[in-house]
Amino acid sequence: MAPSHVLRCCQRGLAWIPVIFIALVVCWSYYAYVVELCISTIQRTGEKVIYLVVFHLSFIMFVWSYWKTIFTKPASPSKEFCLPKAEKEQYEKEERPETQQEILKKVASSLPLYTRTGAGAIRYCDRCQVIKPDRCHHCSACDMCVLKMDHHCPWVNNCVGFSNYKFFILFLAYSLIYCLFIAATVLQYFIKFWTLCRRKSAENCPKSDLPESQAKFHVLFLFFVAAMFCISILSLFTYHLWLVGKNRSTIEAFRAPVFRNGPDKNGFSLGFTKNIAQVFGDQKKYWLLPVFTSQGDGLTFPTRLVALDPEQPTVILHPDTVNRSAEDESLQQSSPLSESQNRLLSNNVHANDDQGYTLKTEDSETITISMESES
Ligand SMILES: [Zn+2]
Ligand SMILES: [Zn+2]
Repeated sequence: MAPSHVLRCCQRGLAWIPVIFIALVVCWSYYAYVVELCISTIQRTGEKVIYLVVFHLSFIMFVWSYWKTIFTKPASPSKEFCLPKAEKEQYEKEERPETQQEILKKVASSLPLYTRTGAGAIRYCDRCQVIKPDRCHHCSACDMCVLKMDHHCPWVNNCVGFSNYKFFILFLAYSLIYCLFIAATVLQYFIKFWTLCRRKSAENCPKSDLPESQAKFHVLFLFFVAAMFCISILSLFTYHLWLVGKNRSTIEAFRAPVFRNGPDKNGFSLGFTKNIAQVFGDQKKYWLLPVFTSQGDGLTFPTRLVALDPEQPTVILHPDTVNRSAEDESLQQSSPLSESQNRLLSNNVHANDDQGYTLKTEDSETITISMESES
């Protein structure tokens, strides 16, 4: 076996350590809660049953969404994004980057692409030898191009992207519920055990109704661990909910996608409700289940792009020169495209939630419509 192959196998094995760690903590938390708290410590049957039912519901949903996040394969670009044989050979023979770009541009002209590199070039992955669809990025850990890549998560040993982003959000939500429920229900027993421990050390120890067992140790730790995870998950979960509302990936939040008329952090935003439907689908009954309901194919994404008549003259409008009816008209013009219309257009319009609308035509004529945001 080649040394590089052995090294790669070792790396793959080591990458599972965080997942195994989480799995062990979850198994222990199950034992500590069910056996040590509910069965050994809690004496009232009603309380015991309610705790066990709610605990198992949140446990099942948490494990289900975690499983789906880990084992859903990241989606990669389809064959139509690979260079045809003749162009590929030509591309490989060619050494000048400008000529290589010409080859890529020719192939890309038939593909639904809106985004470019920072320098305005076609985004191409040399490693996978594929033209990168919009929002697709190469993950060095997975060694592949991942559609709508969000980030590579070591805690699930998988890329979070188009195929499992909904599962990842649900995993955060259910792990938060799981930890919150444990922390909230363990708290009263935590306090009882804690004060009992302190009194014991102060000698004058009254008899307690709590069993004298190892449960004490488990319950004390259970509270600390659940509270600790709660705090760390809450910030990550809130951040990702914000990203979903803006229709932005983590990568795009750090580096705005570059369109033909420059970077635009809101380029894929369709408005709050539609942004949520992009990830969770439009049927609310499936929102809380870790089953795939995200919209689209991961290769193309609706943007607020609108085709303009190339013959139109350059117009620059500003708030003080635009009257109400002109604003209404321009808003109607730049309504979001449906997915079926979402193809590479010769002219672009980008609407920005905060900064108004910028329209750019093929021959670099720019029409800017700036508007005061309505309160
Ligand atoms: Zn790649
Ligand atoms: Zn990855």
